[in-house]
Amino acid sequence: MIEQKVYVKNPEEVVIACPHCGLTRKANIRRHPESLKRAKVRCKCGKSFVVAFEYRQHYRKATELKGSCVVGSNTYGMTVKSLSLGGLGGVTSAYRKLKEGDMVEVEVVLDDHRRSRIRALCVVRQVGDHFLGVQFQDMDQESKRQLGFYLMP
Ligand SMILES: [Zn+2]
Repeated sequence: MIEQKVYVKNPEEVVIACPHCGLTRKANIRRHPESLKRAKVRCKCGKSFVVAFEYRQHYRKATELKGSCVVGSNTYGMTVKSLSLGGLGGVTSAYRKLKEGDMVEVEVVLDDHRRSRIRALCVVRQVGDHFLGVQFQDMDQESKRQLGFYLMP
């Protein structure tokens, strides 16, 4: 039986597309928080398929990359410890200057053969002891592309 992978962002409104005919339907799986891994679905077209629910929104890669973040007129060095399509976490002394919800400009140098630079405007989601977790808000197309390549499992 064909298996469809579905990324769950909002459990109350999961969009499932039939791999046979393309018909989409919405499902509410809120009653099974993160426990519903697979479900067999029978479409109106008469065919059945299996849906595999994927709850992790973004593949997160453990890294040891050089980066920096700009706070006001100061630039702080950062060691990027984890990277995903949605954001990053890193060790930096800039944590002293930031709080949750602040906006910050971040640059990361990837260790791919081109030494691609990722630049993004981010919102601070987590501040710890020498630690900063940010979510990407705005990123140029080239950065998005490089990051996408870099994070391919
Ligand atoms: Zn169908």
